[in-house]
Amino acid sequence: MVAVEMKDISKSYDKQKSVIDQISLSIEEGEFFVLVGPSGSGKSTLLRMIAGLEEISGGVLKMNNQVVNHLPPKDRNLSMVFQNYALYPHLTVEQNILFGLRAKKVDKMEQQKRLQETAEMMGLSDLLKRKPKQLSGGQRQRVALARSVVSEAPICLMDEPLSNLDAKLRAHMRIEIRRLQKKLGLTMIYVTHDQVEAMTMGDRIMVLNDGKIQQVGEPITLYNQPANLFVASFIGSPK
Ligand code: ADP
Ligand code: MG
Repeated sequence: MVAVEMKDISKSYDKQKSVIDQISLSIEEGEFFVLVGPSGSGKSTLLRMIAGLEEISGGVLKMNNQVVNHLPPKDRNLSMVFQNYALYPHLTVEQNILFGLRAKKVDKMEQQKRLQETAEMMGLSDLLKRKPKQLSGGQRQRVALARSVVSEAPICLMDEPLSNLDAKLRAHMRIEIRRLQKKLGLTMIYVTHDQVEAMTMGDRIMVLNDGKIQQVGEPITLYNQPANLFVASFIGSPK
């Protein structure tokens, strides 16, 4: 089953040249799909269009076979994790995790049930009463992940979620995110500019440059059969 389908998706800001140029792509349910490319290549713009946070200039975006071009973000049944975590500093860990459920008016019993399960799964059970500033970078990122998991949305979008962490923690969190995605059967669309992250995490990878698709495929295919010099040098394959 296809979870997200793009047909000739384009974006230009203020009539400038396209920053996303006719992207066509299908992402399967349960797939870990990585969007990789250098800074400024259009990764965040594309992700924000999928989330409904950015207007689509041209083309058709479908989710579960429905056109969603103009559907508001809250009706898209997805969750999003940002690079800077975007936690509310004045709220506790618990309040941060539950923020979206409160807005959606999920009942209190259900909120508590999901909170306890998620906190346990993410190793946050002892930290629920703390404020974000009393947490380490890794713990904060875990809260951001928990907030996304607790929504039980089937599609998860992540925009460079590990780029503020040190190398050791990053390596650890890569494995944790993959494990979580498998366990929950999430469809993941994961943005990074880090080739290692892309190659080790993705079921499939799309390489983006200057708003255009350079290649889509499994990591091994990109490595062994890069479509062009850009992919070869970006992925670091021997060719
Ligand atoms: P990436 O996430 O790959 O670094 P972005 O999607 O943030 O790339 O940006 C792609 C291009 O669009 C860049 O040239 C950037 O300057 C431009 N851009 C991004 N957001 C805006 C905006 N709100 N207004 C005008 N240009 C933008
Ligand atoms: Mg970006």
